[in-house]
Amino acid sequence: MPDRPLEPTGDELRRLCDAAVAYVVRHIDTLPDQPSFDTDAAAEVAASFREPPPESATSFDAILARLDPAVRRSFTTAGPGYLAYVPGGGLPAAAIADFIACAVNRFVGVAAAAPALAALEATAIDWMAGLMGCPPGTAGILTSGGSISNLTALVTARVARLPEDFLAGTLYLSDETHHSVSRAARLAGFPERAVRRVPVDARLRLRPASLEAMVREDAAKGARPFLVIANAGTTNTGAIDPLPEILAIARAHGLWVHADAAYGGFFRLVGEGARRLEGLGECDSITLDPHKGMFLPYGTGCLLVRDAAALRAAHRGEAGYLQDLHGAAGAPDFHALSSELSRDFRGLRVWLPIVLHGLAAFREQIAEKLALARSAWERLRRLPMIDMVDEPQLSIVAFRWRAGAASAGDADALAAELMRRVNARRRVFLSSTVVGGRFVVRLCVLSFRTHADRVDEAVDAIAEEAGALAGLRRGPAPPSG
Ligand SMILES: *Cc1c(COP(=O)(O)O)cnc(C)c1O
Repeated sequence: MPDRPLEPTGDELRRLCDAAVAYVVRHIDTLPDQPSFDTDAAAEVAASFREPPPESATSFDAILARLDPAVRRSFTTAGPGYLAYVPGGGLPAAAIADFIACAVNRFVGVAAAAPALAALEATAIDWMAGLMGCPPGTAGILTSGGSISNLTALVTARVARLPEDFLAGTLYLSDETHHSVSRAARLAGFPERAVRRVPVDARLRLRPASLEAMVREDAAKGARPFLVIANAGTTNTGAIDPLPEILAIARAHGLWVHADAAYGGFFRLVGEGARRLEGLGECDSITLDPHKGMFLPYGTGCLLVRDAAALRAAHRGEAGYLQDLHGAAGAPDFHALSSELSRDFRGLRVWLPIVLHGLAAFREQIAEKLALARSAWERLRRLPMIDMVDEPQLSIVAFRWRAGAASAGDADALAAELMRRVNARRRVFLSSTVVGGRFVVRLCVLSFRTHADRVDEAVDAIAEEAGALAGLRRGPAPPSG
């Protein structure tokens, strides 16, 4: 007999859950005081996990005691100081949803197996389509993230717009487009020459006139332009490509328009964001990342497709062993719309937090994030040592060290040192990127745990460290007299 059978008794299960809940509550309570990152001794902790599987049981307390240092020795991605890459947060409500979803372990890939739960997931997707301004009838799937959504959209557009022999197809994106799109093109079988890069304007938005000229030129040479990827908020700076102009060009030339709104889409929950994202709902497909703008845990992406038949056609397949499972009223068979069959019940993780908190709670957060980025920009732009890349189009503030007398290389080194020093305080965590060949520091406000106090602290730290660095660069003051 094993010393801990796989099915715990009711009492045992409750004890395990209570211990897990106690751990999680303690962890969340201390988040504001945890360092913004702590990877110093991570290698040792990582090495301690490299061991053969135990044959006998381990106490749950001992497991939690091992897990805690592993959790701590990492970037504090769920904390208020996380302003790097694109934060999200990890809503506690979603963790509760996942617990229930895993414990009941229902199969939602085929509607007949859990009709009401498939309907619940379809409803959550419909809500997102509505929030994006998509017309009724828009289809969608929940994915593991934006990268897979982009890949699925690219293949769907390919099947809808190109012949089976598709190698003459060309697609259009800008240098600011997320790298998952060009990778998706490769995964989908396109040669490098099929990916055409359209120049951007001073605010890093795709230039429609250049797009149109390239499409005409490529078509004249015998290529088959079929797809344009429009950024609805780039990862680098939050730039929004001019969707209405891109849509008009695409319609004239028969191109599918895919909007990558992984970062930017949920800003549509508030009026200001909706105005900036005009045209989003008219795109043929939209990538969303609820694990960014809806603050859900990593592993929650979404793809919306206006033409449900196109999504279905891209994923068609026959399986005799599923023949008993056709037709549940009122809910789609998600496996027929995606490349997955068995998967987690992601719908509950999206639906439950919306129902528990109400959409107003999300709108308030999104409005706050826009305002926080704006106020950070207002303060940072006054610092003489740095140049802002752009006024924030959404919630990202990006800046470089002002070149002035120094070379661009020296200025970039100073920007990197500035970021290192700010992060070394461990109250906030910033990340960098490259824009136009220059080192750019980014501050992305998107966690539901980030509020004015922490953003102000970030700006104070940037101002102080920039001042100190500028002082060092000038060297000690010359002796007076
Ligand atoms: C985050 C992001 C992606 C990739 O999404 P993952 O969920 O990380 O796979 C794609 N596009 C944009 C604009 C993003 O911000």
